[in-house]
Amino acid sequence: MSEESLMASDEGERRLIAQVDSISNQLCQAVDGNFEFHIHTDSDEIALQKLAQLNNFVLDSVRRTIRDLKATRDELETRVEERTQRLNLVLTATNDGVWEWDIDSGNITLSQRWSSMLGLPHDGQQRGLDDWLLRIHDDDRAEVQRSLYQHIDGLTPSVNVEYRIRDARKAWRMVLCRGLCQRDGNGVAIRMAGTQTDTTEQRLVDPLTQLPNGAYLDMVLRERLARAPLLPMALVKFQLLNVASLFDGVAVDVAVAALQGLVQRMRRQLPPRVALIALPEHTFAMIFETDAIERLDNALEPLEALLSQPVEIDGQQVWLSHVSGVAAFNPAEPVSVDEWRHQSRLALANARLSDVGSRRYYSEPLRHWERQNSRAEQLIRGALATRGVRCFVQPIVNAVTGEIRGFEALMRLYEPSEGIVTPSSFIEVAERSGLIAPLWGMLMEQALPMLRDDKIRRRFGDDFLLSVNLSTRQLMDPKLLDVMIAASARHGVSYRRLQIEVTETSVLSDPIKAFRILDRIRAAGISVALDDFGSGYSSLAQLTSMPMDTVKIDRELVMNVTSLPRKRHVLSAVVALCQRLDYRIVVEGVEERDTLEILREWGVTDIQGYIYSQPLPLDRLVEDLAPPRPFRPRATAGGPYGSSLTSPAA
Ligand code: C2E
Ligand code: CA
Ligand code: CA
Repeated sequence: MSEESLMASDEGERRLIAQVDSISNQLCQAVDGNFEFHIHTDSDEIALQKLAQLNNFVLDSVRRTIRDLKATRDELETRVEERTQRLNLVLTATNDGVWEWDIDSGNITLSQRWSSMLGLPHDGQQRGLDDWLLRIHDDDRAEVQRSLYQHIDGLTPSVNVEYRIRDARKAWRMVLCRGLCQRDGNGVAIRMAGTQTDTTEQRLVDPLTQLPNGAYLDMVLRERLARAPLLPMALVKFQLLNVASLFDGVAVDVAVAALQGLVQRMRRQLPPRVALIALPEHTFAMIFETDAIERLDNALEPLEALLSQPVEIDGQQVWLSHVSGVAAFNPAEPVSVDEWRHQSRLALANARLSDVGSRRYYSEPLRHWERQNSRAEQLIRGALATRGVRCFVQPIVNAVTGEIRGFEALMRLYEPSEGIVTPSSFIEVAERSGLIAPLWGMLMEQALPMLRDDKIRRRFGDDFLLSVNLSTRQLMDPKLLDVMIAASARHGVSYRRLQIEVTETSVLSDPIKAFRILDRIRAAGISVALDDFGSGYSSLAQLTSMPMDTVKIDRELVMNVTSLPRKRHVLSAVVALCQRLDYRIVVEGVEERDTLEILREWGVTDIQGYIYSQPLPLDRLVEDLAPPRPFRPRATAGGPYGSSLTSPAA
């Protein structure tokens, strides 16, 4: 090769190398991540031009791919952003907090709302699972842990657990926690996330009064009994008995507002640290820490004073009646929460049987009372199941003529081991439990046929009344009249032969309603008698306005009138008043001839008492009832009647 051609080939090689170098330098940009350029070469070498072109193809394709990827990523980001916003919106709307738990590291991330729900500051920092679990109520923690791990182990489709958690003010809140696991390809849980909803309002607050509710009381009781040292305490329950009166003839929202206003005032009567808690049936509970009954008296007096004031509603004044029950907790003889609550319930139940306004303290004898109650209930249920109701009747006698004006149907229950059981063992429980209505139905099934029984008609005629006792609940039942009419029709007897006996207590429980019902009953032709007048609190004012035909004067007023002049004065005044008001009078519980003598002097004719007959089984009536003899005053009668006014059994 010539010198010249050698130099030329050297030159060509250098240029080639420079071009290759230029191309590889350009390609370095791509290695650095820049694909937005073109490889370009000045070389005439076909091979180099091809190489540059090929690289440009590759760059183009990479560029396109990157653009596509970016577009996809942008779209995904937009979608994620939208979803996050939507989720945030939903979470804000539902007020839910959000949590996320990295299972391996044990770290937990809590949202701002999760913290604010409990009044905790939000620092956005991760925490350990224990920070969460330790806030949970001792009684609920195990359940929460169980739900979490059951879901991790794939035993449940999700976490769904409600529990109590302590807030920043150390008060309990109720929350519902829901969560779901994220799992790897092998199904192993790696992360769990979910929401926490505050259900305190739903679970621990009474919707009507906005006061804490029974579930809350339960929690507080448990907490108080878990404290050390234990303190003397008293669980007090107040029950408003006639809240229905607030709703009488008033728009519901007005009555509700009046009740809520009363609750606010009740709250203000309590010491600041005592919570007023709303329980069902217009009952309120509170816990006092007090070691002396007098201190409790002082604390309750303002509340009782408030409740003795009328409630203003729609320009009217409504008096509410209340009773209260107290169960003291003595740290020296601690009891369980259930027992403590039970004692307060017993005290309140017992107070309900006493006069309005009364306060009962739990004591051991209430246990005995409770046992009797449950025996009575068993007796009643047994009688209902085996048709063990028996109708006894006692005559109401016109003493002057000896004629029978009516019979009072008196209920008895038959129990195989005890025989015939009298009302004193069961009637109170039957009335309270509402079981009186079915018992009464069975009683009527036996009593009504007597009005068309041939033997009875031959002996006592077709004019006597069948007098039946009604409990408060039965009296207040708007269907009462229909029930009596239908039952009479079933037995083919006239309901006008019926007389109902109601007590003042029944009528006074809701006088306006009771009067309305009694008016209807009388208008239908059924007589109304006021029973037991003179026992308990009798209101003379009531006598003048009550729709009724007859007053039955109670045995209480009659007992010992022959020996006690002051009682005689009272009885004579009551008799005179009833006569003045034109009511028919029946005097009950007359056992002795001397009493009858006095009553006759005052013009009383109708008598119901052992002097004529004890209550007799209906199916033995004709056989066992001795015909009453007309009364003759001693001075003129001459004949010795002894203490009995009946002739020997027919
Ligand atoms: P009550 O309505 O005052 O019935 C009169 C009660 O006085 C009856 O008691 C009767 O046996 C008793 N008695 C009548 N005369 C004399 C007497 O001269 N001396 C004495 N010591 N007692 C006399 P009984 O049958 O034990 O009934 C007690 C109460 O049970 C009744 O008092 C009534 O309140 C209730 N009762 C009875 N049957 C029913 C019923 O079907 N429904 C409802 N709601 N209560 C009923
Ligand atoms: Ca009666
Ligand atoms: Ca009576």
